[in-house]
Amino acid sequence: MDDCVFCRIVRGEIPSTRVWEDDLTVAFMDIGSVNPGHLLVATKAHAENLYGLDDGTAAAVMRSVARVGRAVQSALSPDGLSLYQANGAAAGQTVFHFHVHVLPRWKGDAMDLVWPVRNPGRQELEETAARIRAAL
Ligand SMILES: [Zn+2]
Repeated sequence: MDDCVFCRIVRGEIPSTRVWEDDLTVAFMDIGSVNPGHLLVATKAHAENLYGLDDGTAAAVMRSVARVGRAVQSALSPDGLSLYQANGAAAGQTVFHFHVHVLPRWKGDAMDLVWPVRNPGRQELEETAARIRAAL
């Protein structure tokens, strides 16, 4: 992906402030940071979203997320730490190269996530779970 902004960051064509990398992932400061220490962990190889990751890359992403998350906790002592990851525009994805936001949180930081709970009944849960199991 020649014009993908994250591919260009991976290749060093766009400057970034890196904090970690391994063979499959890179972690860098988000220039659109919500809070101090807001990082992105991205795959080095282009994958538009979660559905394009092989198992090894998916595992590497979570390993890097955990590693930088622990470092953020140790270095900045936030009150909490949120992970955000979106697949598709409907989910809020704006850069179509797989990445995870590692976002330190402080009480009263005004970050918000609307979570409209529906509390479906057991039958609906069972029917939906059966459809997902069939796809595994
Ligand atoms: Zn890319």
